[in-house]
Amino acid sequence: MQQTFAIVKPDGVARGLIGDVLKRIESAGLRFKAMKLVHMTKAQAEGFYAVHKARPFFKSLTEFMSSGPALVMILEGENAIARWREMMGATNYKDAAEGTIRRDFATDIEKNVVHGSDAPETAAFETSYFFNAFERV
Ligand code: ATP
Ligand code: MG
Repeated sequence: MQQTFAIVKPDGVARGLIGDVLKRIESAGLRFKAMKLVHMTKAQAEGFYAVHKARPFFKSLTEFMSSGPALVMILEGENAIARWREMMGATNYKDAAEGTIRRDFATDIEKNVVHGSDAPETAAFETSYFFNAFERV
């Protein structure tokens, strides 16, 4: 059993896509271990995406991620990290496979509706960035 960290990004929350995303997670048999809405400050978004701080899109990305509420979650299941990444689809929705969340809902390479950890180490960092022990079931 593996855990991963997931976000419905501010574009997805603003566009009313929480229900669609959660339905897909439940249908895939992944289980929710934690969930809450957060409106990140710019500094919190910068800390979360610190690995990208040298990228040209960092300023825009962190402004976007702090532009409104996001739904942050911990998901659990077998091979959860890879399975959730597969359900999300490629970063650029134009390259994302059919039936993925980004292919079906994203409008922009940046505003791509969802986030998912890419490795066990990042899942551990991202999970503890947002959740303390009392917020997890
Ligand atoms: P995430 O980490 O959000 O799950 P990812 O792992 O598919 O997405 P990363 O390379 O980690 O992609 O990029 C993080 C986020 O930065 C992307 O999801 C997207 O919102 C934004 N981003 C990535 N590349 C670009 C780009 N070339 N232009 C604008 N925004 C970008
Ligand atoms: Mg990433």
